[in-house]
Amino acid sequence: MNETKRIVIVGGGITGLTAAYYLQKEIKENNLPYEVKLVEASDRLGGKIKTVRQDGYTIERGPDSFLSRKQPAVKLAEELGMTDQLVRNGTGQSYILVNNKLHKMPKGAFMGIPVQVRPFLFSGIFSPKGKLRAGFDFVIPKSKKGSDQSLGVFFRRRFGNELVENLIEPLLSGIYAGNIDDMSLMATFPNFYQLEQEHRSLIKGLQKTTPEKKKSTGKKTGMFFSFINGFESMIHTLENSLDEGVVSLNTSVDHVEKKDQDYHLLLSSGEVYKADAIVMATPHYTLPKVFSQYDMFNEFHDIPATSVANVALAFDQSAIKKDIDGTGFVVSRNSDFRITACTWTHKKWPQSTPEGKALLRCYVGRPTDQSVVDFSDKEIIEIVLNDLNKTMNITQKPEFSVITRWQNAMPQYTVGHKERIAKVRDEASRELPGLFLSGSSYEGIGVPDCIGQGEKAVADVLEYLRG
Ligand code: FAD
Repeated sequence: MNETKRIVIVGGGITGLTAAYYLQKEIKENNLPYEVKLVEASDRLGGKIKTVRQDGYTIERGPDSFLSRKQPAVKLAEELGMTDQLVRNGTGQSYILVNNKLHKMPKGAFMGIPVQVRPFLFSGIFSPKGKLRAGFDFVIPKSKKGSDQSLGVFFRRRFGNELVENLIEPLLSGIYAGNIDDMSLMATFPNFYQLEQEHRSLIKGLQKTTPEKKKSTGKKTGMFFSFINGFESMIHTLENSLDEGVVSLNTSVDHVEKKDQDYHLLLSSGEVYKADAIVMATPHYTLPKVFSQYDMFNEFHDIPATSVANVALAFDQSAIKKDIDGTGFVVSRNSDFRITACTWTHKKWPQSTPEGKALLRCYVGRPTDQSVVDFSDKEIIEIVLNDLNKTMNITQKPEFSVITRWQNAMPQYTVGHKERIAKVRDEASRELPGLFLSGSSYEGIGVPDCIGQGEKAVADVLEYLRG
């Protein structure tokens, strides 16, 4: 007898939705005797992907774009027939705020590491001593093989503190909202470790491996994609592609237990749902609660998650008396600013803003300044406007603002992250076969990484169920 096997995906962010999409596709194409269910605690799908469309503006509360070279996201957009809705960012000068002064981002760099040396030699971001120290990269030996270390230790050893504090740290913490001195090299940028092992000098390694086009200073194309109608349009398309009955909203999975061959999932509705396989596509910190009788997940208490808030401010362009010709800036820790980054969204993503208007999107919430995220809207706006007016001259109040607080939203891949995850996965595969962990807490926080993990979870589930 061929009994239908049940697969439950817990969490309807981009990871869970991707898994549901590819599973449904496999089931249909291969006529598999499987049934898929996606359970989401909140009243909507998308998790951190959330777009507000107001007065002709398209405002992203969460991610605004993804790296165009990252295949899983491009492939999913193709799958969904959304390729014609992808837009590249407008290019322009980006800036970095160092010691309270805006500087042009030096050309010819990759994540703050020089590929071309000349622009760094002429940059005002570093002192002569700092430049000399960064040059030690050409002679410093490579790291000991295999062991993890913090990004801070790694980059400080190669380039000295100045390059790290004034350039690398603000760029990296912009992505991870983390502390560079805690973040794992192996879990975030293992390619830099490889480069060091192969070429010793990162500068030389990047020079040898960066394609010519990137090295040239000619007309650039944007490196990021967004969707013309906002990131959430991808969520809506995914949602519409799923068969009726697949998604259960407003339902959290409160507890899971393995009983013989089945998993019993206690849902917030009181129902106990039985399943053969589970994809947990929720943040890691939900696991110790949901699987409270399994000690292996206590390991996840050691994975911190930081909070951030972003603030989108809409202005008439006439309100900005002193504008800056560029796409935005990131802020180094040695500046007397509370915002960590600002994007001139109307320039970076012109389709997001009506003609004659300006849309500025700023972040607050460094790892050392988490309390700001809980401030009132009024207080946060005041902080942001005060900081913006140090570099621009904004003479009117915003026409409107959209503030989004993201509590514990950025999982921190601290030193040893990969080993920690591997250990839990290994124990889970023995004690809880058929359970798969997927999403931003594990193998990459970027949307394409989450999509890739959702796809991988589908392959794992299918392999497991085939036996
Ligand atoms: P989530 O989106 O967190 O989804 C998890 C879901 O699980 C949620 O919907 C939650 O309600 C649900 N859930 C939790 N517990 C339960 C339960 N017990 N039962 C049922 N459901 C449950 N990445 C980029 O590539 N580019 C960017 O520009 C970018 N910017 C970002 C800006 C911000 C402010 C943030 C917060 C992140 C940003 N990221 C960016 C990262 C990226 O958006 C996230 O890593 C990604 O969206 C996470 O997707 P996910 O599906 O793994 O998790």
